[in-house]
Amino acid sequence: MTNFLYKLDGETWFKEQVTGEIGHALRVDELLFEGEIDHQHIAVFENERFGRLFALNGFIQLSTADEFIYHEMVTHVPLFEHGAAKRVLVIGGGDGGVIREVLRHEEVEEVTLVEIEADVIEFSKKWFPGVSAGAFEHPKLKLEIADGAQFVKDPSRQYDVIIVDSTDPVGPGEVLFTEEFYADCRARLTDGGIMVSQCGLPFLQPVELKKAHDNQAQSFGSVTFYTIAVPAYSGGLMALGFARAGGVIPAEGEIAQRVARSGLEFRYYTPEGHRAAFALPAYVRRVVETG
Ligand code: SAM
Repeated sequence: MTNFLYKLDGETWFKEQVTGEIGHALRVDELLFEGEIDHQHIAVFENERFGRLFALNGFIQLSTADEFIYHEMVTHVPLFEHGAAKRVLVIGGGDGGVIREVLRHEEVEEVTLVEIEADVIEFSKKWFPGVSAGAFEHPKLKLEIADGAQFVKDPSRQYDVIIVDSTDPVGPGEVLFTEEFYADCRARLTDGGIMVSQCGLPFLQPVELKKAHDNQAQSFGSVTFYTIAVPAYSGGLMALGFARAGGVIPAEGEIAQRVARSGLEFRYYTPEGHRAAFALPAYVRRVVETG
């Protein structure tokens, strides 16, 4: 047993040590796997409320009950903002949830997934087949097992949308929050391209969020954030960074028209919710602006 798992009154619990002073526990109804993979530690378990979950290095990455919130919002916001993305790059995202959502957009001709950990993909296929829902076998998918920070250094690569679906800025995910990485992403975007990136929980990780903001602003000029609340990520709102490489902001009503034309249906995403998610609570704005 690692220190993520402990016994209490005959039950097994998984403890996510969110910060030094906050630990969040979920009852483990069945432990499916727990051990070291190439770069990280992985635990896969069942919980009555959240369904099946997996954690990397002790941090919850997804639950089958609420993954649709994160995956729909990290994907459809940039794709509908862009409106005509043909080439999409997903960095991290080895569970397959983001590529599943990207591939629903008919205009997308190619999606590249760059995941550092081959085992995350294998674990997802084995334990979470509904999350990728066949996306790993899709003919439009190009799969690369590599460090995303190295991958974006190649100047021959160009994308309309880049989605950084990473772990937090510790371990292999740390490089995906640096100024150098964001500058390389900016250089890989076509004119009018958009980058969205997972930037953690403003309430619990204000220093990390401010740093991600400043590092993105260096190369993109301006960066904004939108927020979502995902029950499995304890600590309140999660911030997603949104940065444009030029281009024009869609006119009022344009996003709703694009959504209607797509014919897609969602469990969380709506054009109204898309717009509203950019209205930041004052404390989040303060973190981003002043730290
Ligand atoms: N949605 C989750 C969250 O918000 O916590 C994260 C999803 S998880 C699939 C993120 C993935 O990023 C992991 O599979 C991890 O292996 C991958 N990753 C971490 N660092 C990476 C790097 N430098 N390059 C590519 N993938 C990386």
